[in-house]
Amino acid sequence: MPVVIVENDTSQWEDETGSVYHFPKRYRPWLSTGAEVIYYKGRIKDKAFAPTRLSGEPHYFGMARIGKVYADQSSEKGDLFALIENFTPFERAVPSKTGDEYLETIPKSRLKNYWRDGVRPISQADYDRILSHATLLPAQVEPDVPDIQDDPLTFISANEGSKTSYFGTRYERRKDLRVKAIAIHGLDCKACGFNFEQAYGDHAKAFIHVHHVVPISDFGGQKAVNPETDLVTLCANCHAVVHRKRDMTLSLDELKSILRGRWVKNP
Ligand SMILES: [Zn+2]
Ligand SMILES: [Zn+2]
Repeated sequence: MPVVIVENDTSQWEDETGSVYHFPKRYRPWLSTGAEVIYYKGRIKDKAFAPTRLSGEPHYFGMARIGKVYADQSSEKGDLFALIENFTPFERAVPSKTGDEYLETIPKSRLKNYWRDGVRPISQADYDRILSHATLLPAQVEPDVPDIQDDPLTFISANEGSKTSYFGTRYERRKDLRVKAIAIHGLDCKACGFNFEQAYGDHAKAFIHVHHVVPISDFGGQKAVNPETDLVTLCANCHAVVHRKRDMTLSLDELKSILRGRWVKNP
């Protein structure tokens, strides 16, 4: 069943349009892997967001598919993260209604509170109707990966027999991969357990480095990065040590084996 997902201009939820959707567990039945979704925004509340929106009125602005769903490791209420795949923005806003009629069919029992829900299952007919008003822009493509030789933050590692591997930070700097990696792996350092918010409080909340653990030469060109297996979250210290020697990038196990202390109260 297709689903409308609401993304507000400001909210307590750590959403990243087209990359990650953060939601409470009561919406879990609707947001399963493979579900087709349409993005929706309600009426504008703060004019400062006008430049980032297609319209000030309630409208739909893109379509996508739900990828894997992960538990939010920092939530005590069972909140979840869904990875968003194939995000395709609309060229113009699709208004929530044409004339007096909403494009979504509102059940009689929900007339009073229908629009309150952040996630709304819709019929295939409603889904098709909304899309019939939309002009699709090309699906969001990942930025081109620059040539390895041109990337000053690529590290050459020749210690696997005669094979040369390239470890780089290029994927670590890509925002869509960062938000997915953090949704999957959480905000604790995977080597030492350090958590920035625990150590520094609110100012450092949600901060962590993302490290790419697979050598680039193994990709054979254009293979997509899998944020679950190819990326990990590390604190700034551990990340610096992993990349300390240009010709020898440490693996996560190597880093853990040389780590002598843990600098958190309750790891
Ligand atoms: Zn660490
Ligand atoms: Zn790294």
